[in-house]
Amino acid sequence: MKQEIETAARMIEIFCRDHHGGKDGLCRQCRDLLDEVKKRLKKCPFKEDKPKCSQCSIYCYPPKLRERIRAVMRYAGPRMICRHPILTMRHHLNKKRRNIDEAALPGGRT
Ligand SMILES: [Zn+2]
Repeated sequence: MKQEIETAARMIEIFCRDHHGGKDGLCRQCRDLLDEVKKRLKKCPFKEDKPKCSQCSIYCYPPKLRERIRAVMRYAGPRMICRHPILTMRHHLNKKRRNIDEAALPGGRT
């Protein structure tokens, strides 16, 4: 659960920094977004048992927020591969048929 929140925070950070030039942490908009994410994660009915945390948390959100989260995840997701266990797992599952793409992934394996 804690890791979920940290992951979300990191993703929003990356997104905000690159899209909103947030030099001193998150901009207002992204801070609100993160607050919302934290709130939802805390009261998520699936708690620790979530099969796909990112999927699940996306569906907890009202449509407008969901779009923003999705944009953040789409952008920051590939950049989180080394730090996020579930993304890493999915990455490995896809590896066989995506060997070539992998080299082209932004921020790839470090
Ligand atoms: Zn921002």
